[in-house]
Amino acid sequence: MEELKETISLRCVFCRSTLFAMPHEGYRPHHGSFVVCANCGHENDYTSLFFVVKDKAMDIAHEYAERLLEKAANDMKKQLQNAFRGNKYIKIC
Ligand SMILES: [Zn+2]
Repeated sequence: MEELKETISLRCVFCRSTLFAMPHEGYRPHHGSFVVCANCGHENDYTSLFFVVKDKAMDIAHEYAERLLEKAANDMKKQLQNAFRGNKYIKIC
């Protein structure tokens, strides 16, 4: 099974920039805090940014799961078609 790897960037809600001014190296914003956009200077509410990213991640995971299920169903169909190939009474369509 292929591994799902996606990168989702935080984006400024005002200008869509992915660059933020961090007060120091290794800074990790916490819920309820604000991060300043390095491009337009607006303050973004970190919790809102986080939920946008979380929603995107859920969409990506959902799509991935659907693709896996579809592939599993196709594989199973092929196996059944092979298993019953030449059988007069059972046809897998
Ligand atoms: Zn901005």
